[in-house]
Amino acid sequence: MALIVHKYGGTSMGSTERIKNVARRVAKWHDAGHQIVVVPSAMSGETNRLLGLAKEITTQPEPRELDMLASTGEQVSVALLALALQSIGKQAVSYAGWQVAIKTDSAHTKARIESIDEAKVKQDLNAGRIVIITGFQGVDSKGNITTLGRGGSDTSAVAVAAALKAQECLIYTDVDGVYTTDPRVVSEARRLNTVTFEEMLEMASLGSKVLQIRSVEFAGNYRMPTRVLSSLTDPLIPLEEEANSGTLISFEEDTNMEQATITGIAFNRDEAKITVRAVPDRPGIAYQILGQIADANIEVDMIIQNQSSEGKTDFTFTVPRGDYDKAMKVMDEKVKALIGTADVVGDTKVSKVSVVGVGMRSHVGIASQMFRTLAEENINIQMISTSEIKISVLIDEKYMELAVRALHKAFGLEKA
Ligand code: ASP
Ligand code: MG
Repeated sequence: MALIVHKYGGTSMGSTERIKNVARRVAKWHDAGHQIVVVPSAMSGETNRLLGLAKEITTQPEPRELDMLASTGEQVSVALLALALQSIGKQAVSYAGWQVAIKTDSAHTKARIESIDEAKVKQDLNAGRIVIITGFQGVDSKGNITTLGRGGSDTSAVAVAAALKAQECLIYTDVDGVYTTDPRVVSEARRLNTVTFEEMLEMASLGSKVLQIRSVEFAGNYRMPTRVLSSLTDPLIPLEEEANSGTLISFEEDTNMEQATITGIAFNRDEAKITVRAVPDRPGIAYQILGQIADANIEVDMIIQNQSSEGKTDFTFTVPRGDYDKAMKVMDEKVKALIGTADVVGDTKVSKVSVVGVGMRSHVGIASQMFRTLAEENINIQMISTSEIKISVLIDEKYMELAVRALHKAFGLEKA
């Protein structure tokens, strides 16, 4: 017997028919002797619908009220799932976040979980009940309902699993796992049986949006084994088969040493590049440029500063494409005067492509293999950045898919 947390996404909860299927699947696990906590999302489209209603009323909604509103989607889901379980003879009880309680800070619409009381849930489980807890929401110290940001039910599920010291957190979703790259770009992309949480963080933050990033951070910090698997299979397939399907997010020490050096190719189309030309090469310049950008709440990703000649240097950085106009405005209105240059140019037609793998730590030559592959395709590299387990390049967006396909092949990631 084990304590296991299941999370079901909006698609899996998309209709009463599907909710009945979720109930059958959950009942199967409970019948096998496990204690089960379920954390569902709102029915698909519901959170958008609710936020849309607010938009019809005001363009500047109070975040507190948005949370009151958006959190109702999950409350519908948990109640329907409890009813579905009860109607097939299971004891089940549903709770809103505040009833558990899942305590968060007061940052409405992007709150962070601070603690979870597990006492009540444990009691229910020990009494044989299946416990269903709303994803996405919590309560702050003043009793206000908060939400965790879009896609936050993943984080709720992993946090609940960690608080209950569950054996595993199963994230049921409409894809059957994490792939070596996006199968829509490379049809030979292969599903990974395991991926380390560090690799998953890189893959997720680089645009493979299977899980909310914060849930992966939680899984890493609390060492909670988390599996991404399909909710579209027959709910009554053998439990053993289901328990080993999908992709397990694991910890490096646990994975076998035979594994390939590179785990996946990630990419992000949502990039823009800004270059400040011929800035004076003196202390404080990077700070003056990026300090202003940070004050405008814009995230900077890649940065390069060239070696200077004649006391001048070029300074280039990337920002999310959606923040490009805002960043250029900051450059025009603040930075140019501050550092005494007028020469700022930008490019919004760039993409980032990365090779990711913990195997990089113990292998040399990955960067050269990556650059050779791009050279053979005649793809020019505009910027490079690296971490211990990732090498990223910024290239013309026109060549992004070509680059991903070529690298996927060069590193032997295709299906066996
Ligand atoms: N219902 C919320 C959303 O749509 C949370 C979630 O689905 O994870 O963002
Ligand atoms: Mg989701």
